[in-house]
Amino acid sequence: MDIFSANQDSFTLHLRVTKHCNADCSYCSSYENDASSLMKLEDLATSLDFISHLILKHNLGGKRKMITVQYVGGEISTVPFDYLEQFVTLVKEKLSPLFLDFRHGAQSNLIASKSRINQIMDLFDSNIGTSIDNSTEQRTINKSAQRYQKIFLQNLDYSKKFVGKTLPAILVIDEKMKPFVFDEIEQAEKKKMHLTLRPVFQGGMPIEEMESESLTNLYDQIFDNWFMKSEIAIEPHFSLLQKRLLKYKKEQFNLPSYSGCPFQHNCMKSSLNMEPNGELYVCLDMADSNNYPIGNALTQTLDTETFNLLLSRSEKLNKDCLSCDYFNECQGGCMNEAIEHTGDVFGKTQYCQTWKAVFKKIDQGIDSYGYQNVSNWVEAISNTF
Ligand code: SF4
Ligand code: SF4
Repeated sequence: MDIFSANQDSFTLHLRVTKHCNADCSYCSSYENDASSLMKLEDLATSLDFISHLILKHNLGGKRKMITVQYVGGEISTVPFDYLEQFVTLVKEKLSPLFLDFRHGAQSNLIASKSRINQIMDLFDSNIGTSIDNSTEQRTINKSAQRYQKIFLQNLDYSKKFVGKTLPAILVIDEKMKPFVFDEIEQAEKKKMHLTLRPVFQGGMPIEEMESESLTNLYDQIFDNWFMKSEIAIEPHFSLLQKRLLKYKKEQFNLPSYSGCPFQHNCMKSSLNMEPNGELYVCLDMADSNNYPIGNALTQTLDTETFNLLLSRSEKLNKDCLSCDYFNECQGGCMNEAIEHTGDVFGKTQYCQTWKAVFKKIDQGIDSYGYQNVSNWVEAISNTF
């Protein structure tokens, strides 16, 4: 059985430029009392040389068709722009020669001046993602949710001038957001804003996670509300549907084109995250959870035992996953979620039940509307990206 329907030939590098943030959201997964200082540029050069060495020595990113560098915080817009520009230029200079194609982007809360929004949109070729919450009081500046929402919405509108459409956003799902989810989706529909649903994530602050059955019911209702009606992509429903359609078309060989977090098991081969002090983790989520640090790029150290352990997830996946009808599309789910849920690198994500329910809905939907109609609808949404 070929277990690799995830993308094996691309690489994602998360670079946390700063841990400093201008907001004080209650559930921040990157919460840090002591925001560490910025990495010196000469240290960045040393660190990037070590990362390049790891990529080449361990065949990270397989055939190295593409690297995607994602800049994250803290809040990226709080970083002095001259420094950020030099940082981003250096990363491109050092890493783009290793890959056929290079892309980068950043995550921002858009709480910034218009001139800073201009700068970051230009620097990242308008590839900016954000997060939205118009309903709860969990996203705040100096504990004011109203102030946060006012600046955020103004800048969200302002950012449209760069791309001609609303930036995509993450919607964090927790007990507090649950009563407002459909209002948020309705507003996103009006703005034609693509959404990624993200169950709240434990990263150092108290959270109000939804209980598994309740989350599954919510994801089911979201699917029913969205399927064949909406003009926006809602993730993970959209990409799971895209992948499942390939099964109906007998084109599963194309699955890697749609692969990525949180549905991959070859994370150690395809992803890396560096903290401002050079610490290395598989990805941002593993770093936020402080799960399995693998070394430090600045001190040029690799914990080979941990690296090999994480690498071996692909060979020791949970038996339920290997015999699961949805394995090709789900790939066993996210390793970090599995570690959080079971304490085991080879465990199963706590969202298994939710993903299975979504897949069931997808299959029922394709059966009742027919492959071609569903495919046409998916394509119409894809054309708006
Ligand atoms: S552990 Fe999860 S979030 Fe991290 S790279 Fe793997 S799938 Fe993505
Ligand atoms: S749906 Fe569950 S059992 Fe199936 S592959 Fe995903 S995590 Fe594994």
